Amino acid sequence: MIRVKDISQKNDRTLSILWTDNKVQNLDVVKLRLKCPCAGCIDEWTHKPILKPEQIPESVRPVSIESVGSYAMKIAFNDGHSTGIYTYQMLRSLN
Ligand SMILES: [Zn+2]
Repeated sequence: MIRVKDISQKNDRTLSILWTDNKVQNLDVVKLRLKCPCAGCIDEWTHKPILKPEQIPESVRPVSIESVGSYAMKIAFNDGHSTGIYTYQMLRSLN
């Protein structure tokens, strides 16, 4: 199973993830916030996004990242949103 080896802030808006298969993935933090998979951002039944891009300021940034088991990470953002659990599988499918 592919896991995260390292995470670093590449620049102000880009989070860089190094995976255990040595693939480097650069993620735009604003897009990451928009892709939040929690029940407050995605409708659990229809799987349609509830969150509107215009609700998210360009200044949104992750403030903390913690691992959840060996399959996901929980990202807290500076807009006060911290319920998003991003599975590695989902992260790998971005970009
Ligand atoms: Zn959310």
